[in-house]
Amino acid sequence: MEPARPRPAALANVVDLAEARDRAASRAAPVAEPGKQAQFEGLVAVLGGYLKPADIERVAQAFAFSEAAHQGQMRASGEEYITHPLAVAAICASWKLDAQAILAALLHDVVEDTGVTKEHVAQRFGAPVAELVDGVSKLDRIEFQSQEDAQAENFRKMLLAMARDVRVMLVKLADRLHNMRTLSALKSPKRRRIARETLEIHAPIAHRLGLNQVYRELQDLSLANLYPHRFAVISKAVRSARGNRREGIGKILETIQRALPEAGINAQVYGREKHLYGIYRKMVEKRLTFSQVLDIYGFRVVVPDVASCYLALGALHSLYKPVPGKFKDYIAIPKVNGYQSLHTTLIGPYGTPVEMQIRTAEMHRIAEAGVAAHWLYKSDDASISEVQKKTHKWLQSLLDIQSNSRDPAEFLEHVKVDLFPDEVYVFTPKGRIMALPRGATAVDFAYMVHTDVGDQTVAAKINGEPMPLRTELKNGDLVEIITSPGSQPNPGWLGFVRTGKARAHIRHYMKTVKYEESVGLGQRLLGQALRSLGVAAGEIDSQRWERVVRDAGAKSRQDLYADIGLGKRLAAVVARKLAPAQPAESVVGDGRAEARNVPVTIRGADGMAVQLARCCRPIPGDPIIGHISKGQGLVIHTHDCKTIAKSRRKEPDNWVDVDWDPEPDKHFNVGIRALVTNGRGILAKVAAEITAADTNITNVHTEDDETGNYAIMEFAIDVADRAHLARVMRSLRRLQEVVRINRVK
Ligand code: MN
Repeated sequence: MEPARPRPAALANVVDLAEARDRAASRAAPVAEPGKQAQFEGLVAVLGGYLKPADIERVAQAFAFSEAAHQGQMRASGEEYITHPLAVAAICASWKLDAQAILAALLHDVVEDTGVTKEHVAQRFGAPVAELVDGVSKLDRIEFQSQEDAQAENFRKMLLAMARDVRVMLVKLADRLHNMRTLSALKSPKRRRIARETLEIHAPIAHRLGLNQVYRELQDLSLANLYPHRFAVISKAVRSARGNRREGIGKILETIQRALPEAGINAQVYGREKHLYGIYRKMVEKRLTFSQVLDIYGFRVVVPDVASCYLALGALHSLYKPVPGKFKDYIAIPKVNGYQSLHTTLIGPYGTPVEMQIRTAEMHRIAEAGVAAHWLYKSDDASISEVQKKTHKWLQSLLDIQSNSRDPAEFLEHVKVDLFPDEVYVFTPKGRIMALPRGATAVDFAYMVHTDVGDQTVAAKINGEPMPLRTELKNGDLVEIITSPGSQPNPGWLGFVRTGKARAHIRHYMKTVKYEESVGLGQRLLGQALRSLGVAAGEIDSQRWERVVRDAGAKSRQDLYADIGLGKRLAAVVARKLAPAQPAESVVGDGRAEARNVPVTIRGADGMAVQLARCCRPIPGDPIIGHISKGQGLVIHTHDCKTIAKSRRKEPDNWVDVDWDPEPDKHFNVGIRALVTNGRGILAKVAAEITAADTNITNVHTEDDETGNYAIMEFAIDVADRAHLARVMRSLRRLQEVVRINRVK
């Protein structure tokens, strides 16, 4: 036995940390909240460290507002309800979230649980705060049912997609964290349900956002509530193991602390212990007993720069033998949530494996706080932008914006992006979640469920309401398909389906079952197109026919007709190739000659006169459909244009599937309507904002609403595409005076 010696500082660190955690975990009663006034003062003290006095004043107003709204409501623990939003705001403040997010945290339950409306919140605290509160309330409304892993992943994505603004998800996680900390006030079955949901949904989301502390705490709290007995056994085992293994750990620590400075490395060494859920998972997955789980201890080495990480690694490997195959370089290849470190496992003096994590201080900050860490500091440091490139796509876009803007408020406005811009997540009537590409319709959904369902679809209900089959699905929609055994796919569906699966099945069906009909339809369409060129089908000689058939890659004239009938080829284009060359003037009527000057590039319309419909004013990015009309060539409408609905039903033959050319080099006119609070100079302000977004205004119309408090402004503006339009609308939303903004169709 060695003589007693003061514990090395870092070992004290391991033990203190672990003991503090045990204390937290073994709390039987809910955390006693300090009185609400003291709680509020604590919050203000934290906020004072980084918010402006005017913002803190607004926080005080939100506290008073929320307290009044929740008046008389109690938590399951018997405390006043307001203690919960206060605690959630305090968690958000510990992440240094901005004032809007703190207000939203205080108000997060008022819309859902009291009589206060979203509009009311908007009036008192501004539209952005109301949007955040609304976002959190929406997440509260959807419930996770399935127990399958794949479903859980989809549900997580659905939540993230619905959150849109990362701050909504952060407030939601703070809400869940506080509810988990106080879960013991609830009855057992409800507790288990919430704990399971937290484990499957919220903890992984926290992990994905890089909030590692939250992630570990949510997992441990879930385990404690889901399996109280197992949790107790493991905590006890960890406590006694800590005593047994202390000596070995201390020895390693001392050795490392001596060796690193000798190698010229300036490092801080911290002890750490795997969190309980991590140990539990390892026991379950590898079928180990507790005593077989050896690597519950580890060390974290924090160094000033990346080069020192690798130097430190070399130094450690020369002290202790590394376990083969355990080395991982997350610096060269960061994890998707941005995590970076070197990991290696060493074999300690008593044969105990010890995990080492080596990282820079900057990496450490991001590892612990994740996305929240990016709020705290501006990225004047080149190493952050290096991380950015390798981070998951959406996270990356957030950071890019941050590094380009000097103003943190502006950065936060940019946070409102679609997290999964290419996908939507919807429910089946049985509660399964399906992922579909953005723009997918009820018919796409039907084919995704099953080919037979797709083929026999006759109608759809979305959220219980009968809706047209072409309706675009939104995140969280519940979709029900009505089928009829005798019915068949409709060729018109090709005009709006988005998925390859639906398209392929509709075409396949038509090819095999409906080949004859397609040929007939194609022949009719081509005849029409030729007549509009003043040519009779009989006049075309067989040589020309052969050439056109060959150029089209068709096997025969029949096949070419079928292609036209199936919508794969435009009749008008084929007609042009078949018709003997003629001077343009005699082919194209006056109206069309003018229309031809519109330099719109539409895929599949080569050689045709193209114009954009004035009713819906499509812009690139909109789903579109073309109408072949006599004397006007091809007129492009948006899928959801109301003026064409009837014609699409009654004369489906005249509608063709078209697409935007990938890079149209042109501006498109589009209408937007803004509802703004009336005031001096407001028109100039709005107009300036529009032009600042690289946009021309071609027309303005304003009128006051009946009360005179608001003005309605309509602008016709030129934009390049939908993304450009979205940018303009986003920058307008940023104006305090703008209450609502939408596109005019
Ligand atoms: Mn809540």
